[in-house]
Amino acid sequence: MDFSLSLQAGEGELFSFWTWDPSESLKKETIVIRPSDLLRRQKRCRSEVKKLALLRWETVARCNLCMSQRSVIVSVRDRYGAPVETALCMDCGLFYLVGRFTPDSYAQFYASGGYRRVCSQFNGVEYDVDQIQSDQAGYAQTLVKALAGYVANCRNGRLLDIGGSTGIIARGFVDEFGMRATILDPAEHEVAAAKASGMNAIAGVIEKWDRPEKYDLVLLCRSIEHLTDLRGALRKIRGLLKPDGFFYCDISDFMELCRLVGPPETFTKIDHCYWLTHSTAPGIFRMLGFDLFSTYKAFDSDCVGYLLRPCEPVPLSPPFGRTADQVAEIYRTRQEWIELGKKRIPPSQWARGKAYRMKRMFQRSMAAVRGAFSDEPAVVRRQSAPGRINPAIPHSRGEFGVSLACL
Ligand SMILES: [Zn+2]
Repeated sequence: MDFSLSLQAGEGELFSFWTWDPSESLKKETIVIRPSDLLRRQKRCRSEVKKLALLRWETVARCNLCMSQRSVIVSVRDRYGAPVETALCMDCGLFYLVGRFTPDSYAQFYASGGYRRVCSQFNGVEYDVDQIQSDQAGYAQTLVKALAGYVANCRNGRLLDIGGSTGIIARGFVDEFGMRATILDPAEHEVAAAKASGMNAIAGVIEKWDRPEKYDLVLLCRSIEHLTDLRGALRKIRGLLKPDGFFYCDISDFMELCRLVGPPETFTKIDHCYWLTHSTAPGIFRMLGFDLFSTYKAFDSDCVGYLLRPCEPVPLSPPFGRTADQVAEIYRTRQEWIELGKKRIPPSQWARGKAYRMKRMFQRSMAAVRGAFSDEPAVVRRQSAPGRINPAIPHSRGEFGVSLACL
């Protein structure tokens, strides 16, 4: 669902973080959105944020996963400037929104296009259906290749793509493996685009899905953060899988985003109700009845992909002080971010950022031209250095790159 590219935004101080060393703390060149740029972006979003305030809101008093009320508020506004608090559960490590829309208001937010609108305003780019499809094309290619060794056995099997948007990713599995795909997405105009391309698409959310079919493969790409009931949705997905079925989902690692982008107020947003990290996700999946089959990590981005199979639920192990370390790291990140925001940008960094923006604009222009004259996917997005964490698991192609984060 979430394929927005703030890194392609046409303005603001933008620095490359490709050379970032994950072992180091936040550095000047890792900042994508400086404090002054964040304020400019929030100003652009102000009118839309006022409209969002008119929707129905609710307060989440306890963790959706472990029901604990022990939490730390790590930010009080989201990137759009909306008064959205983000909490870290001290007992399981889940990040979640405290103030958020009611589920019905989220449905309205997605169906009305408000989600794409505020995202476009923040990033300074327009997201139309063509743009969304272009952004998804590279991701689809990568995912089809990465899962080929597993999905080949599901030839002609059933696929459910939750948050499947315009159907580009599902189409990849239909074309490559002959799977029978169903797309589920709350954005009605994106569902309409999927239907127009001949796909079986339904407007809705997994939390309200009540059909009896079982699936060989369920995809949840760039969407887990958008769920309004994480525990309920993942349990439902488990029930939708055939006994030997696969569930693929990816996460945006909250702590990696802190290191790559800045403190939570630079990337949290009203439509991301939950955030996981690579250190908490495997335990959470096991607690919900998913065995980790293989893990994929793009080392220079925040995205981690997981291929899972149904298993008996395993009780969650407490994070043993890890959450306190995370709180300290977030605090340190914020202090560094504020301090660095007071300093002038050295000309060399400014030039590097400018050159990067021009390169991205050129790439997009060329991709658009190619798309106009070819049936090939219009944009093949930058793929991170591949790195599978579990090399013991056989893999047909041995590579998995993940496109840029949803920022
Ligand atoms: Zn919890």
